[in-house]
Amino acid sequence: MSFDLQQAYAILRPHFQERLRLNEPLTAHCAFGVGGPADMWVTLERQRELIDLVNLCAQHHWPLLLVGGGRNVLFADAGVRGIVARIDFHSYQIDRQTPTTALFTVEAGARWPQLLDESLAQGWSGLEFGIGIPGTLGAGIISNAGAHNQSLSQILEWIEVLDARGCNIEPEEQFAPAIKRRYSRDELDLSYRHSRFRVERSACIDHGGTW
Ligand SMILES: Cc1cc2nc3c(=O)[nH]c(=O)nc-3n(C[C@H](O)[C@H](O)[C@H](O)COP(=O)(O)OP(=O)(O)OC[C@H]3O[C@@H](n4cnc5c(N)ncnc54)[C@H](O)[C@@H]3O)c2cc1C
Repeated sequence: MSFDLQQAYAILRPHFQERLRLNEPLTAHCAFGVGGPADMWVTLERQRELIDLVNLCAQHHWPLLLVGGGRNVLFADAGVRGIVARIDFHSYQIDRQTPTTALFTVEAGARWPQLLDESLAQGWSGLEFGIGIPGTLGAGIISNAGAHNQSLSQILEWIEVLDARGCNIEPEEQFAPAIKRRYSRDELDLSYRHSRFRVERSACIDHGGTW
């Protein structure tokens, strides 16, 4: 796979402005403080930006690595060739379902402390088990994050992912845009630190859970 850094920069810079950085040291984005530079680093603040970036990468065959909080990755000393994009959209919505339960719809870049602070302030409980889990909830789905004998599998209703597997279909290499898919909890093969995404990689963008 060839990566034309200058071409990618020229195309992406107008969209991301100063959020797009060249030769970015990954030590600053990794809990363990290791890693060489990424050719290109970008922080994604909206779902639409992720969708557009994934489609552009597929169209141009640019390598793309998505990360959340960088709490569970070790970057190589040689760094990363291509684009490393951090998912940093983290808004949420709370919809009361019954007098005692609510559905939280949370974007992938939300972190446990943010959600806990805001849900407890509104009188909702049920998420407390995750207070010590570092990183984003989106990444947490991949490993069915949990603690104190509880895990996301017990509260999750559904997730939405961006599935880019069909973007470049060999041998014609015809481009097709990435597809948003929704999976219910039962389709996720959740067990101890496991989900179907340990096997199939997709970008988690949104999920809903009942507390
Ligand atoms: C000190 C410490 C304590 C921990 N304690 C616990 C614990 O008690 N329980 C527990 O379950 N885990 C624990 N973990 C693990 C960690 O918190 C989880 O793996 C967490 O989900 C990492 O989130 P992150 O956003 O930092 O992911 P990152 O480190 O940024 O990414 C991890 C992986 O997920 C991928 N990824 C990230 N976001 C997405 C997304 N939205 N869509 C698709 N792929 C994505 C990345 O490509 C990478 O492969 C601990 C980790 C540390 C360092």
